[in-house]
Amino acid sequence: MTVKSDTFFTDVTRNFENAGKYLKLPDGLLEQIRVCNSVYRFKFPVKTENGYEVVSAWRVEHSQHKLPTKGGIRFSEHVDEDEVMALAALMTYKCALVDVPFGGAKGGVKIDPRKYDEEQLQRITRRYAAELIKKGFIGPGIDVPAPDYGTGEREMAWIADTYSAFNPGQIDASGCVTGKPLSQGGIRGRREATGRGVFFGLREACDQAEDMKALGLSKGLAGKRVVVQGLGNVGYHAAKFLREAGAVLVGLAEYEGAIADPRGLDLEKVMTHRRDTKSILKFPGATDLKTAEALTLDCDILVPAALENQITIENAADVKAKIIGEAANGPVRSDADQVLRGRGVLIVPDVYLNAGGVTVSYFEWLKNLQHVRMGRLGKRFTETATNQLILTIEKSTGKTLSESEKLKLMAGPDEEALVNSGLEDTMIEAYHEIREVWKRHKGVDMRTAAFITAIDKVAQSYIELGVFP
Ligand code: GLU
Repeated sequence: MTVKSDTFFTDVTRNFENAGKYLKLPDGLLEQIRVCNSVYRFKFPVKTENGYEVVSAWRVEHSQHKLPTKGGIRFSEHVDEDEVMALAALMTYKCALVDVPFGGAKGGVKIDPRKYDEEQLQRITRRYAAELIKKGFIGPGIDVPAPDYGTGEREMAWIADTYSAFNPGQIDASGCVTGKPLSQGGIRGRREATGRGVFFGLREACDQAEDMKALGLSKGLAGKRVVVQGLGNVGYHAAKFLREAGAVLVGLAEYEGAIADPRGLDLEKVMTHRRDTKSILKFPGATDLKTAEALTLDCDILVPAALENQITIENAADVKAKIIGEAANGPVRSDADQVLRGRGVLIVPDVYLNAGGVTVSYFEWLKNLQHVRMGRLGKRFTETATNQLILTIEKSTGKTLSESEKLKLMAGPDEEALVNSGLEDTMIEAYHEIREVWKRHKGVDMRTAAFITAIDKVAQSYIELGVFP
């Protein structure tokens, strides 16, 4: 195959091919799944105080075996076509692993968002959305973007509004994008979803006594020493939930530097310190380090939650963690992956571990199509029915529950509770599906097992469509 060496998409392809060897599929099907189906590259002008600037942008739809396609939009000066292609491909496998019925896609705008004010960012985002609309690369049944590195709820609201303006009267218009603010059709729990999913995935990994024993670690998250690189939406929430479950944050890294404290860092205090001083450095009681040094700190679990290509052949040998939880997409290069695997490090792969975001995006999309908040119809009904049941039991047993016990039992599910339990169930189910494949194929790592599982699901979908015999 003629793929350029040393690119992100090449790495994804390498992982794909490693997994493909374990699957017996009709000729051409693997190739059809591997390639990016549609790559839309475009440029548009944006007016700044220095005159007009020409911005490069992309939307890649990797696989349309299920529609809509789905994936975030990245605003970063490092965005290029190869990166967007790789990220779009990862989205296909990610959706398949967590049984979210979408194909994979990704968007990118090559800008450093920190260099623009809010008004300029709004113009760029709306123009980007308009370009997608013109070419049919967005729509609730076509392709549904979401936040990614450098974008968030604000940008998603601008996209939804632009789409609605171009499609007046389209009743499902708000389903054209997810990760929106609550007032614009967003869903409770989406902001925390990727980080929460990372936590559920790592908790599941640590709860497998046999796998932990093989790493020389005890079962469970409590007491595990964790380093998190990147305190954006994903890294911050992953760190928060891991800490709440008893893990000890011994190192935290951001682009200005890293801090370490073997006694454990108080995440909220670090965040306040960063807000006040514009840096995580000089946090009382902690040691200052360079950003990259955080990756080689002594710890049990390393969570790279920033960008791709963080653990490379240069620093892989110095990584001391026994578990790497890939919260970011593609943080471990494939040559580094081999070094780490050789040393028995357990890598919980990105395609699985950060799938919480798209899982809750799926719930948001369902909410938009249903035009009703989850739990709205059933909450009070469940509460009344449970209350009746409690009263009956109390009457027949002669025992009475305290008011607080009663309230706890009675509470009907609201949107947030449903989203979080749906996410928890999804992450646990997917973990065991992958683990079963991992254990069944001797000598295979968890990433390959995840790819085998995902490719097999996409392949079945093509076969059932009748596209391949
Ligand atoms: N950008 C996120 C990801 O890489 C979320 C995608 C989505 O919600 O569609 O998984």
